Amino acid sequence: MNIAIVGSGYVGLVTGTCFAEVGHQVICVDNDIRKVQSLRDGHIPIYEPGLEDLVKKNVAAGRLSFTDSIGDAVEASKVIFIAVPTPPQADGSVDLSYIEAVAREVAVHIKEYRIVVDKSTVPVKTGERVAITIKRYNPSADIDVVSNPEFLREGSAVEDLMNPDRIVIGVSSERAAGPMKEIYEPFKAPIMVTDLNSAELIKHAANSFLALKISYINAVSLICEKSGANVEQVADGMGADKRIGRAFLNAGIGYGGSCFPKDISAFIHISQDLGYDFKLLREVENINVLQKERFLKKVKEALWLFKDKKIGVLGLAFKGNTDDVRSSVAIGICQALVAEGAKVRAYDPQAMGKARSLVPEVVMTESAEAVAEGADALLVLTEWNDFKALPWAAIKKSMVSPLLFDGRNLLNPVEMRALGFTYADIGR
Ligand code: NAD
Repeated sequence: MNIAIVGSGYVGLVTGTCFAEVGHQVICVDNDIRKVQSLRDGHIPIYEPGLEDLVKKNVAAGRLSFTDSIGDAVEASKVIFIAVPTPPQADGSVDLSYIEAVAREVAVHIKEYRIVVDKSTVPVKTGERVAITIKRYNPSADIDVVSNPEFLREGSAVEDLMNPDRIVIGVSSERAAGPMKEIYEPFKAPIMVTDLNSAELIKHAANSFLALKISYINAVSLICEKSGANVEQVADGMGADKRIGRAFLNAGIGYGGSCFPKDISAFIHISQDLGYDFKLLREVENINVLQKERFLKKVKEALWLFKDKKIGVLGLAFKGNTDDVRSSVAIGICQALVAEGAKVRAYDPQAMGKARSLVPEVVMTESAEAVAEGADALLVLTEWNDFKALPWAAIKKSMVSPLLFDGRNLLNPVEMRALGFTYADIGR
């Protein structure tokens, strides 16, 4: 199948590459010419395990190419995926201007039947709007609009794309279902064909539910702290029940990233527009904010004041295995510390480059050990597995005071206390 992907970011680039890997002919489009040039030169602008090799392999095989011309891509491709940003606006609603701009641009280049697939996360009924927009700018365009939400997780995006739990295809006509199934047939995953609105809703409902699980266990972690129970044991006990499942029951400093915060506030907003006040999700958001504040309070209680304290931060990415710092809780915590006069040094295996402009006052160091040197406290803010294997005994010796705050319950409390750390975590 000849496929165009408009938007070559985390979703578009990985999707396009995986489509090429299973044999499709893919053109990835981006309006950021520097990104296109760098992709053509073999530089991958994001860190995603396994992606670089796969891009190079498929470019060499002639199945994957990059362009800034939507016109060329639309002409060459029967199916056009839209994977552009859908960022939040100040009131929490979704900024659909990127989607609308692509719909208009695609419209004028359509000369024969095309399937336009929305892969970006969008409010229910956006597909209908995209179809109307294309028709407005090209009344003779023969199109079907499809919703195909993406469920990949950054950090394991290639693996998730190649082995999805399910593929959701929302169609408004049978004509589009066939080619869509053909595209996904090689992935050997269950394909669920729904109507357009349901597919769009599945994505917001799923992400909101996952965030709800995180906030639920975070609220439970508070009860654990107050009662002397251990949230990890509680989560294991809950998660062993197949109806619940263990995933997304890890207590911590809260969810962040480019998806959950915006998708939950979008879903609240969408519901509001449809006449329902989704108070349950408002509470999910409240708990998430509280979790970060509780963590900061714990650190402050130990240090008394942040001013002039040397605080080491391990982890800036919104989660492990990615360089993405968008809406990262770790960044929010660094900003709060800096605002109160702390001298913050940070280390992250992948995310320092992208974090620099967000926290210019934070000194980035070349290693975790350098962060700890002379520090009054050390905070673990991202669950990088590498941090488990650090030389913790030497790190403790190099600190001014051995205060260790594990915001991701990453380390073994018994081991850390045995090494002499004053160790605090979330609910254990
Ligand atoms: P991103 O910012 O990494 O990538 C978007 C790309 O689109 C950028 O490279 C940008 O230059 C390009 N772009 C913007 N306008 C364009 C235009 N008019 N023409 C061509 N290119 C254009 O964003 P992302 O993280 O890939 O997210 C894209 C969508 O997928 C969002 O709706 C997001 O919610 C959704 N999503 C993201 C993830 C994730 O983990 N990142 C997972 C599932 C769904």
